[in-house]
Amino acid sequence: MTLAILSALAEEQQGIFEQLEQPRRVHHAGRAFGLGVWYGQPVVLALSRIGKVAAATTATALIEKFQVSRIVFTGVAGGVGEGVQVGDVVVARDFIQHDMNAAPLFPTFEIPLYGQSRFVCDSVLTAMLLEAASAGITCASGLFSLNASKPQVHHGLVASGDRFVSAATEVQRLQAALRDAGHEALAVEMEGAAVAQVCHDYGIPFAAMRTISDRADDSAHVDFPEFVRTVASRYAQAILTEFVQRL
Ligand code: SAH
Repeated sequence: MTLAILSALAEEQQGIFEQLEQPRRVHHAGRAFGLGVWYGQPVVLALSRIGKVAAATTATALIEKFQVSRIVFTGVAGGVGEGVQVGDVVVARDFIQHDMNAAPLFPTFEIPLYGQSRFVCDSVLTAMLLEAASAGITCASGLFSLNASKPQVHHGLVASGDRFVSAATEVQRLQAALRDAGHEALAVEMEGAAVAQVCHDYGIPFAAMRTISDRADDSAHVDFPEFVRTVASRYAQAILTEFVQRL
């Protein structure tokens, strides 16, 4: 029962490879995969790279080449839901592609030939990830004081698309279009929905969490790399450490 730990950026899983027992690196499909044992569990660490196609390729390689039987994604995202602040964590309930639009042939956001717009995460893995997020965030947030209030764990819909959303007007447009079709997203990022679709095709349980790095508005790019390196990577490590021990 090998677990894949997938992230978009190297910083997002920094420090985990060093903790593996029997560590080894394998190169495949132009990507480096880190194999080993973590808290007694066989794991494969992988970087999806950025965007839906890159993420789908990595997820497929994890399943076909490394025979992983479950995938957890950790990374950062822009907070677009009400009250979803920088430093909070969003655990995905399901995913939608906000840039999928084959209208008028198919309803807006529907993935052609699937008859659905959203892909739901695995309920068992997601319940574990929610517990791990609450436990991990309490322990990791002791290190920082980002918000006046304690960081919150949110649970809901995450929207993926091939663009870094970095303007308030764009967020408003995107949220309005999603709402029109009955979808209320908490966060935007660039990979999760692709991995969710691949996992759906293969019947592989999938769960995902994102630390909110920005509000996807005009200041989204400010301090982004610094945030990922100093805050999100520590959250991810704390939450994944809790998660892997619950498997
Ligand atoms: N600065 C990085 C590029 C980051 S792209 C570099 O130079 O390598 C943004 C990454 O963070 C993507 O993997 C995406 O999933 C996530 N992300 C964070 N905030 C986002 C936002 N506002 N819109 C879209 N994706 C976002």
